[in-house]
Order: sequence, then structure tokens, then C-alpha cells
Amino acid sequence: MYRRECTNTRDAMEFRDMEFKAWAHVQSLKFSLDEHNLELRVKAANEAEVEAQHRLASAEAEIADLRQKLDMTGRKEMGGFLFSYAMNVILGQKENRQLITRLHSVADVHCCDCREVLGWKYIQAFEALQKYKEGKFILEKPKIVKENW
Ligand SMILES: [Zn+2]
Repeated sequence: MYRRECTNTRDAMEFRDMEFKAWAHVQSLKFSLDEHNLELRVKAANEAEVEAQHRLASAEAEIADLRQKLDMTGRKEMGGFLFSYAMNVILGQKENRQLITRLHSVADVHCCDCREVLGWKYIQAFEALQKYKEGKFILEKPKIVKENW
């Protein structure tokens, strides 16, 4: 009887041990499954990020294209050219002006010699798409004379 009990106890312990091992195995499988799911989620997030970057890049390309078209239209309609620098000029009073390409803060550009208005300088643009013009000059075509070029 004692032996039998002992055997039973040992069997029970072995069984519990096996049960524990099985449970541990299940836990480790669950853990690696979670790991795998996490990996999949990270992968999906990375793919979404790449996709978003592609979309951003194509949106930026579109903006650049529109900006160029707008600039071309602007040049044609205003009959002037956009310059980064202008020499021998002085600036008039700064004011807000509604131009073809929306509201800008501008100042007239005068010839420093005869004070004739040659065009204007973009002091501030209020729209993101127009910001590239800030600090630049529009000189009207008829006022530009090619000399010693
Ligand atoms: Zn002049």
C-alpha cells in the first residue's frame, strides 16, 4: 500500500511535470506567435511608411510642377522676370498687394538713378506655394535693357 501510494505520488508528480512542460511549451509557442505577429505588424507599419513616403514624394513632385506652371503663367501675365538679385535699385514703401498669384507684401523697385519704377520686390508671401518668391524681384520686361551682355 505504501509502495503503491508512493508510486502513485511519483506518477502524479511525473504527470504534473509533463503537464507543466506542455504548458511551458504552449507558452513559448504563444510567445513566438506574438513575436511573429509583432514582426508582421512592424513589417506592415514599415510598408505603410514606405507607401506614405512614395505618396509624399509624388505630392511634392506635383507641387513643384504646379509651382513651375504658376511661375510661367505669372511671368507671362505680369510681363516681368523673376530675379534673385537686382542692382542699382532702391525700394519703395512696403505694402500688401493683390497680385495674380494672390496676396503678397511687396515694395516697388525704383531705379536708383532716375527713380523710375522698374518692378517690385516680394517681401512676404502669405501662401506656402508662393514662399519661394520671398526676397526676389520682378523686373518688368520693357524696363530691362541688355547692355554689354
Ligand atoms: Zn534710371
